[in-house]
Amino acid sequence: MNRKRQVSRQSAYNPALSRKDLLARERGTYLKKWTGRLLVGLFYPNHYRVGMSNLGFQLVYRLLNDDETLVCERLFLPESTEPVLSVESGRPAGDFPVIFISISFEHDYVNLARFFLATGIEPLAQRRGKTIEPGNPLVVCGGVATFMNPEPLAPFIDLFVVGEAEPLLPVLLTYLRDDNRGDRQELLYTLNRDHQGFYAPTLYQTHYDDQGRFERFDQAPGLADRIDRIGLETTDSSAHSELLTPETEFADLYLTELGRGCSRGCRFCTAGFVYRPPRLWDVEAILKSLDERPDTISRVGLLGMEMINRENLELIADHIGSDGCSLSFSSLRADKISDNLLKLLRDSNLKSIAIAPDGASERLRRVINKQLTEKDLLSAAEKLTEAGLYRLKLYLMIGLPTETDADLEEFVALVQHMRDVMHRIGRERGRLSEISISVNSFVPKPWTPFQYHPFGASGKLGSGETFTARKALQNIKAKIKYLRKSFCPVPNLRIKFDNPDQALFQVVLARGDRRLAQVLLNMADSGISWKQALKRQGLNEQLFATRQYDQTSSLPWSIVDHSIHDQYLWDEYRRSFKEKATLPCDTELCRRCGVCID
Ligand code: SF4
Repeated sequence: MNRKRQVSRQSAYNPALSRKDLLARERGTYLKKWTGRLLVGLFYPNHYRVGMSNLGFQLVYRLLNDDETLVCERLFLPESTEPVLSVESGRPAGDFPVIFISISFEHDYVNLARFFLATGIEPLAQRRGKTIEPGNPLVVCGGVATFMNPEPLAPFIDLFVVGEAEPLLPVLLTYLRDDNRGDRQELLYTLNRDHQGFYAPTLYQTHYDDQGRFERFDQAPGLADRIDRIGLETTDSSAHSELLTPETEFADLYLTELGRGCSRGCRFCTAGFVYRPPRLWDVEAILKSLDERPDTISRVGLLGMEMINRENLELIADHIGSDGCSLSFSSLRADKISDNLLKLLRDSNLKSIAIAPDGASERLRRVINKQLTEKDLLSAAEKLTEAGLYRLKLYLMIGLPTETDADLEEFVALVQHMRDVMHRIGRERGRLSEISISVNSFVPKPWTPFQYHPFGASGKLGSGETFTARKALQNIKAKIKYLRKSFCPVPNLRIKFDNPDQALFQVVLARGDRRLAQVLLNMADSGISWKQALKRQGLNEQLFATRQYDQTSSLPWSIVDHSIHDQYLWDEYRRSFKEKATLPCDTELCRRCGVCID
C-alpha cells in the first residue's frame, strides 16, 4: 500500500510486557491442546503491536483456528534479540511443521529474512528437505503485498496463497491434513497444478536479458504460465476485529469491514486494482459482524467508507448508535460529506478526521483520477469544523507524474484557505482547529496505471533516456524543502514527511524480482544498508525503480493474473497525461478493465 492510513493511534503498548502478560490482556485468543492436531505457526513480520492491528492477520488466525483439527499460534518479531516464541504456548518457531506468513507492506520484507536467521529455519525454499516437519517446515505466504508482486520474496516461500484467505485456506487445509499428502515437491506441484490461487515459485524459473532486466518465466511441465488471483465473492459476516487487546494501536476500537477494494479507480492506488471487482458486503453481513463486538468496546471503526451508499450507512450508524457506541473513520472523501454523516460525526464526538487530497493541485487530482476540487476540500474543512472537529489531517503525495512547482504552490494556497475557514469558525467557538499534513513520496505500484512510471520523475521518459536514483531523490528532496519552508512558520499547522530514501527502497521492492531475496538476507545478516546490499548483488535502483516501463516491458509481477487487461492499464496511464477522468466502477454495466464478465 502507498501508506498506512490509520483509524486511531492510541497505542498503550508496553514492549516490556512478558508473553504471559500479553496473553492475559487479550480477548479472542485460541488456546488449544497440541496433541493430535496439525501445528501451524502464523508469523507477522513485525512486532506484536503492529501485527495485532492488522485485520487480515487476525482473519487468518481465526480461519485457521476455526478448524478443530489444527492449532494455530501467533509468532511476531521479538522486540530485541530474544528467540521467536509463539504467543499462545511459548514454543519456538522451529516446533511448527507449517509456518504461515501474512505480509502486507514492503517495509516488512527484511523482517522476514530476520525471522529465518533468528529461528534457524532454512531461508531458501529450494534447500528445504523433502519431508515437511518441525524445523523443516512448509512455508506458506499470503497478504496483499504478495498478490501485488510475490517475486521479491519468492526464494523464501514454498507456496504463495494468491488472493483472499477465505476461499483459499479451506482448499489448502484439505491437503495439509491429509497424512498421504506426499513430500514437499509433490504437494507443491499438485496444489499449483490442480487449484487456482496457489503458486510454488521453485517450479518457475526466471530469466533475465543482457541488461539484467527480468525477461520471462519458464514453468515446470503441466503448470499454467500465470497464477489466477482468487477473491471472495460474498460473505455472511464481514471481517472484523477478532483479537482485542489494549497493547495495540487500535486498543479500544472494534474494526469492521464494509467491503473490499474501492470503486474509484485512483491511478496510484493498489487497493483500487488488486481487489477488483470492488465488493460492498450486504448490510446483514455487516450488522452480523457488528453484533460480535464485545460489550466492553464502545468505539467502532468502519473500513471501506468510499463505496457505501447513504441509506446503508444510516442503517449501520443507527445500529451502532442504538448499542450506545460511537463511530470512527480512517478517512473520508471530501466530496461525500452529507448532513447525515455530519450528524453522525457530531453524535460520535469525533475530534480528528483525515481527508486525502493526494494530489497537490486540482489539475494533479485529475491526473491521478481523484476528482476532488478545491471547492470540495474547502467545503469539507468548513462543514467538519462546524460539526466540532479540532484536528484535520491531510494526506498529500509528492513526486506524482506531471507534478510541477505550480502544483505545490497551489497546495500551499489551498491549505491557507482551509486554515482561514477553520479559524473563522474556531474563533467564534473559542478554540482554534489544527491542520496536520502528512506528506509521502509517490511510490509507483504494480497493477496500477502508474506501474510504468519512473520514481521521482515528473514526465514520461523517452526511449533511451536515463533517469538516475540520485536525480529522483534530488527532485523529491527539493519538493520537501519547498513545503517545509512554506509551512513551518505557520501556527496551528504541523507537517510530517516520509523518508525519500526509504520510499525509493519501497519502489525497488514493490517492482522487484526474486534476486532481491538475497539483498534482504544480506541486510538482515550483516546489517548493511539496502544500497550496499543491492550493490553487493550487482543490482541497482535503475533496474527496478527509476526506469520507464513501456507497454511491452516484461514485468515480474505478471506471474499473478488479476484479469485486468494490460491494454487497460496502459490506456489509463496515457489518459492520466491528458487529465482525462475515468468513471468509478459499476459492476452491473461496466466491462472495461476485464475483471467483470457476463
Ligand atoms: S470491469 Fe468495470 S466495474 Fe468491473 S472492476 Fe473493471 S472497471 Fe470496475
